[in-house]
Amino acid sequence: MVKYGKYVALVAVAALAVGTLTLAGCSQPATPSTPAPSTSTTAPAPVLKVVTPGTLIAGSDTSFPPFESMKGNVAEGFDVDLGAAIAKELGLTLEFKSYKFDTLIPTLVAGGKFDVIMSGMTINDARKLEIDFSDPYINSNQSIAVQNSSTAKTAADLTGKKIGVQSGTTGQAWAKEHIKGAQLVPFDDALAAFSALQAGKVDAVVNDLPVSAAIVKDTTRGLKIIQEVATGEQYGIGVSKANPDLLKAIDAALAKIKASGEYDAIYKKWFGVAPSSN
Ligand code: GLN
Repeated sequence: MVKYGKYVALVAVAALAVGTLTLAGCSQPATPSTPAPSTSTTAPAPVLKVVTPGTLIAGSDTSFPPFESMKGNVAEGFDVDLGAAIAKELGLTLEFKSYKFDTLIPTLVAGGKFDVIMSGMTINDARKLEIDFSDPYINSNQSIAVQNSSTAKTAADLTGKKIGVQSGTTGQAWAKEHIKGAQLVPFDDALAAFSALQAGKVDAVVNDLPVSAAIVKDTTRGLKIIQEVATGEQYGIGVSKANPDLLKAIDAALAKIKASGEYDAIYKKWFGVAPSSN
């Protein structure tokens, strides 16, 4: 079972690396005349360019539950499990490394630190000028959170107020454009923004809905979401434009993980329900 899975992954990656349509088109269930196990032991390792041989290193702002957060010094979350599943398909071991969100793209572009960005990062045109993205792996939206005692009901009630945002995010961009006359207060990460909200240092936090929903669910924080904003965002895995083979291999792995039901299991683990249309 495990061996067969590895064999199929190797063939898929090899096909991509060689880039021949003939091989890639060979999607029929294998009826090999040569025995699969001996082929898999003698096949050359897939030639994927990674920073550290054998490892897929993900750069991530690990303060974004339930996508990524630190439990002691171990990263956990939806992105971490999905990354591990993808790495396995590529014959690599996943490693998560923490970075400030707004340093992720320049660090990936500079090269040498990590292979991919897995950080709940929204695919958008501005970012696509600098890096490539995998196929989308989950949908997301924005949201506005306030203290339970706040009387604000929508963005319109926050004119002239202090809005906590995370530097370099789509939430920051949305707040800047849509909450007129507000004073945006940038934070290094989402958890810091929510701590400031609890402490009354800002009046609201604009942040990705799935993350804000998870944070607000902890009732000891005394926070609520007053508005969900359908921005229609989709997260992708960021890959350097200098590494198109890795991008192709990741997309192939992602498709396989979705088809096998592994994606659904990871989704259920972190969101408690089956995915609707992701
Ligand atoms: N999805 C948002 C963005 O890409 C926020 C990501 C994050 O804070 N990790 O800007």
